Amino acid sequence: MPMTSLQSLDLKEKRVLVRVDFNVPLDKSGNITDDTRIRQALPTIKYLIKQGAKVILMSHLGRPKGSKDESSSLSPCADRLGELLERDVKLAPDCIGKATQTLVMAMEPGDVVLLENLRFHKEEESPDDEFASQLAELGEIYVNDAFATAHRKHTSTYLLPSLFQDKAAGGFLMEKEINHLTPLVLQPKRPFYAILGGAKIESKLGVLNALLSKVDGLFIGGGMAFTFIKASGIPIGNSLCDDHLLDEARRIMQTCEEKAIKLWLPKDIMIGRGFTDEAEFKTVPTKDGLPDGWQGMDIGEETVKEWSEALKSAATVFWNGPMGIFEFEEFAKGTQGIAETLSGLDADTIVGGGDSVAAVNQLELSKNFTHISTGGGAALEFIEHGHLPGIDILS
Ligand code: AMP
Repeated sequence: MPMTSLQSLDLKEKRVLVRVDFNVPLDKSGNITDDTRIRQALPTIKYLIKQGAKVILMSHLGRPKGSKDESSSLSPCADRLGELLERDVKLAPDCIGKATQTLVMAMEPGDVVLLENLRFHKEEESPDDEFASQLAELGEIYVNDAFATAHRKHTSTYLLPSLFQDKAAGGFLMEKEINHLTPLVLQPKRPFYAILGGAKIESKLGVLNALLSKVDGLFIGGGMAFTFIKASGIPIGNSLCDDHLLDEARRIMQTCEEKAIKLWLPKDIMIGRGFTDEAEFKTVPTKDGLPDGWQGMDIGEETVKEWSEALKSAATVFWNGPMGIFEFEEFAKGTQGIAETLSGLDADTIVGGGDSVAAVNQLELSKNFTHISTGGGAALEFIEHGHLPGIDILS
């Protein structure tokens, strides 16, 4: 059954409880450094205002671990949203409780209230019926526009919508994410290539295995690549490696061979002596192996060239995870090179995951991509399973 859509509901003068994802990055002074997630929620919020709804927004921010923590207050988000909407956005003192209820019950159609951080209550992450029913009292309709949190069975994303039955819908951002990611699961335009990077191979094994039945080619860079390189019998020095996954890596390489999926591992590697941006560094061919005391920091220039050439034939590309330790300028070149290549392709290009999205944004290339997903883990799990609990519950 498809997800209930926002347009199918009568929203006029209704109190609409909207789960958004305003988990934005903040600097040390509490200033928002990237407001993409707030901007992405604007179409739903503006639509609700236009329909004359009373808009009650709820989100988490950071990891306050179940108690009030000023540094995780949603106050900067309320201010930023107010600027973007050019209207007053009130921040409630909490997400439940008497004072919040009084504020919500006094709302007029078109008003916008942002509830304080859901994660100030431990019951958000450990689903709790009582917490869900207190939140439910605030709204007559529930909308979920927080795709990036839809893979989690938390109170606000999973328990709460079940209390609204047919009055629970998906927002426009949720719809957009599903529309762009579903073809990757069902009918990608071919050739379909996936590029995976980053550090956490274990958390990406699920999607890696799921992709083996979908892709025509797989490019593995970043820290993940070294488990595969070591599994091929090449010394990797001090590079990142999940030794307990070496057999799994061998199995994946074998499956690629059996299914004639072209597997691309870095041809050359930028290696450094020590984990700083001032460490001595050089580029070596992968086949020569890495000397002891050195570690792989980024894919090399030849790899970027080779992969860029191969990617030219793509009809669809999904990319998740940086190609190197891109936080250090010297080791960001591989990630930037891949971002530039993808931005110039005549193909459907979909990027998910904080770091790869940040690289695309830093280079101001986002307009050249078909879709920039707001969800890292959520996008990976959607591709792996074809659905997410926070979406299923809206059907
Ligand atoms: P993930 O959350 O798994 O996507 O990992 C992102 C992290 O991977 C970033 O912080 C990168 O610095 C890190 N990373 C990328 N390449 C490497 C590498 N060669 N060695 C260690 N860490 C890496």
